Amino acid sequence: MTDPRPLHVLIAGGGLAGLATAQGLLKSGHTVEVFERDADLNRKQGYYLHFNAIGGEALRRCLPDDLFALYQETSRRSYDRPESIVLDDQLNELSSRPHMGPPNDGPVPHTGVHRRTLRQVLSARLGDAMRVGAPVVSYVEDADGVTATLADGSTARGDVLVGADGIRSAVRRQLLPDVPVIPTGIRGIGVFGRTPITPELDELMPHILDQGVLMAVDRKGSRLLIANFRPRRPADEAAAEVAPDVVLDPVPAYIMVSCSLTEGTVVPPVGEWTAQTPLDLRESMLAAVEGWHPAARAIVAGLDPESMFAIPFGFLEPAETWEPSRVTIVGDAAHGMLPTLGMGANLALNDAALLVDQLDRVARGEVDVPAAVGAYEQQMRETSYPILRMTLDHDKNFGGGALAEASGDRQAG
Ligand SMILES: Cc1cc2nc3c(=O)[nH]c(=O)nc-3n(C[C@H](O)[C@H](O)[C@H](O)COP(=O)(O)OP(=O)(O)OC[C@H]3O[C@@H](n4cnc5c(N)ncnc54)[C@H](O)[C@@H]3O)c2cc1C
Repeated sequence: MTDPRPLHVLIAGGGLAGLATAQGLLKSGHTVEVFERDADLNRKQGYYLHFNAIGGEALRRCLPDDLFALYQETSRRSYDRPESIVLDDQLNELSSRPHMGPPNDGPVPHTGVHRRTLRQVLSARLGDAMRVGAPVVSYVEDADGVTATLADGSTARGDVLVGADGIRSAVRRQLLPDVPVIPTGIRGIGVFGRTPITPELDELMPHILDQGVLMAVDRKGSRLLIANFRPRRPADEAAAEVAPDVVLDPVPAYIMVSCSLTEGTVVPPVGEWTAQTPLDLRESMLAAVEGWHPAARAIVAGLDPESMFAIPFGFLEPAETWEPSRVTIVGDAAHGMLPTLGMGANLALNDAALLVDQLDRVARGEVDVPAAVGAYEQQMRETSYPILRMTLDHDKNFGGGALAEASGDRQAG
């Protein structure tokens, strides 16, 4: 057992998992330092994130009441059907399956968020506790604490180090050097962008496109992911009323799109894109949806070239149980998975809530740090690993193509 006292926790990574962990620890009276690699927090990482009660309720646990209310107000409007729906190329329904996760039918169901808005909510009030442009490169642990070293050679000392540094985590590389990242490239649906919802587009769209996340497919194998984001309230307006000290960028309604490319289309590595690249990729997508419903074609044709980007996906194999210590991992660092089930962010937030609960036990003097970390890691593995495995089955069964690319059958990129 230990003397009851709040902990000082170092967090590598200011993504969703790291920021939620920081907020949850501050809410419980601990202190934190967050080290984020990127100096610019606007790197393109995706737009709409589908949420369920796993991620949403974890946010309730980690955020102060007003920031949680702000998350709710700025999240997507409720939809009629809590299901993932598959459509044909004329946007007729082919099949559906319920969203994953526990019951989600409270007065304000969890729906989905604009990623950047959520990150702004999660970084609110961190002040000097968050440093950007500050990658963690290694750590040394001893009986009394852990020292993290940053890329500039400076160090920070804490009771615990949390690796929330994403799928290519430096902290995991040191903690679990035998866990490789299995890259899958961008063949499946790795090129993303946003289409603004104009009144003309709105008029064209059948009502079914207002139902959360949808996938349309044709007999040739072309696929179009459509995720429609209309917030419950405009982000800037909600912030001004609910938490006036928090600044949120306005986010006009949009559709997040990812679409197949025609056979043979080459997607250059991200660093080699020119102004022409997104235009060419959009043309290729339009050719891939030749003959589709006019709304589907209008959604692809309306893609904002500025918004387009490519993400090479990857995933981790579940790691064997390891010896708990003062260093742990959360989110994609622990269970990076293919995005097809829309679960990675939900599980990342869930890890944050589980870890905060366990570290609170240390602060109450009930357990020591390794015992608390071990209990968290056991819960994390039990919750996340089965879903990680499901994403692999889903890719195989749904023909996502990501695993084919992982095995060397590369077509694009
Ligand atoms: C296109 C796309 C769509 C998705 N859709 C969904 C969805 O609908 N629903 C869902 O639940 N999930 C979705 N996901 C998955 C989700 O985005 C991830 O699971 C989630 O972002 C993981 O959060 P994280 O904080 O663990 O990692 P990240 O979001 O990757 O954050 C890690 C952070 O660590 C920083 N970092 C990296 N290295 C270091 C270092 N050495 N030191 C310090 N900082 C470092 C990075 O800059 C980054 O800010 C999607 C993913 C993609 C790519």
